[in-house]
Amino acid sequence: MPSICDRPAYYTDEQWEKFRFVAETKETPFLVVDTTIIRRNYMELMKNFPFANIYYAVKANPDAHIISLLNELGSCFDIASIYELDKVLSLGVSPDRVSYGNTIKKAAHIREAYNRGVRLFATDSEADLRNIAKAAPESKVFFRILTEGAETADWPLSRKFGCQPDMATDLIQLAQKLGLVPYGISFHVGSQQRDISAWDAAISKVKYIFDWIHNETDIKLNMVNMGGGLPAHYITKTNEQEIYAEEITRYLKEDFGEHLPEIFIEPGRSLVANSGVLVSEVVLISRKSRTSLTRWVYVDVGKFSGLIETLDESIKYPIYCDKRGEVEGVIIAGPTCDSQDIMYENHQYDLPLSLSIGDRIYWLTTGAYTCSYSAVEFNGFPPLKSYYI
Ligand SMILES: *Cc1c(COP(=O)(O)O)cnc(C)c1O
Repeated sequence: MPSICDRPAYYTDEQWEKFRFVAETKETPFLVVDTTIIRRNYMELMKNFPFANIYYAVKANPDAHIISLLNELGSCFDIASIYELDKVLSLGVSPDRVSYGNTIKKAAHIREAYNRGVRLFATDSEADLRNIAKAAPESKVFFRILTEGAETADWPLSRKFGCQPDMATDLIQLAQKLGLVPYGISFHVGSQQRDISAWDAAISKVKYIFDWIHNETDIKLNMVNMGGGLPAHYITKTNEQEIYAEEITRYLKEDFGEHLPEIFIEPGRSLVANSGVLVSEVVLISRKSRTSLTRWVYVDVGKFSGLIETLDESIKYPIYCDKRGEVEGVIIAGPTCDSQDIMYENHQYDLPLSLSIGDRIYWLTTGAYTCSYSAVEFNGFPPLKSYYI
């Protein structure tokens, strides 16, 4: 059973003090994000993947503070919709540093992105490719392929996106006929991917497509977009990013030699997750019968206010609270009138017996996929607030 964790090691005393000041003086629930951690994460990614262009996956946390900081640091941006595009452009990002990475998009939105200067689009189907050819003529396109690894990713992204390699080779040739620039291949091995060899299999597929296209056509592909998938540290163990980088670099060099094509990475979770702590309060503690051995702890944040990645208990956030002493496993649930709004029941967290109503519960590593997923008015609760320090 996961037990209460210590204060996160990546916070300095000073950062922790600053965080505690905000955490203790506002009404819960809210997320507190420390952008110095995102800056550090960006530097670490640059150090670990010195050959890669970094495209931040905006969907992980689209807050203006984060986009502005990453823009300043020289990052590029992977957007999922014209609304995210609006946001990054309004914050001064140049459209030539934006990739429209969603393969599911309306023709009108492709046109709008093109009109605003975007010239790089992902695709995985003929219908979308034809839309891009019409609405964004002569743009660069990259082709998303299906990958394995869903079993070892805590938040898989397979099945819905990507096509089989032989279909990708058809699309590449069609793109050229339609006047587009076939630029590269992309994949996403699944978010929070714990098995590094998932990249090995994906890179081999990409190499196969590069070779086939090179041998059978006059097209030359230039780019490999490795998507996201690099992990954050939750309860379930993962390797350090440095180990991922060493292995992935080795896979790339084994397949492509020393002269790598252009490499893109699209970090979301690995860039912002550990910058955030979600602060909640215990609303109620109860048992379901006189003799029940299990306590239910209801808090003021739940699946509909930022913790949707607890679906199927997929992501197990480290939890911190000030109370210590004897513990017992409890069920943790959210505040809404929806029975899905239970975060952890199979994985009962060991919380202190002395925990009482009004105590604060801190959800660590919640900087990614929380605020952007929060409902706007379910049960009348407002969307999750955030504070930037
Ligand atoms: C969600 C997503 C990402 C980010 O993935 P993480 O696992 O959070 O790093 C990157 N690229 C694409 C296309 C995505 O859909």
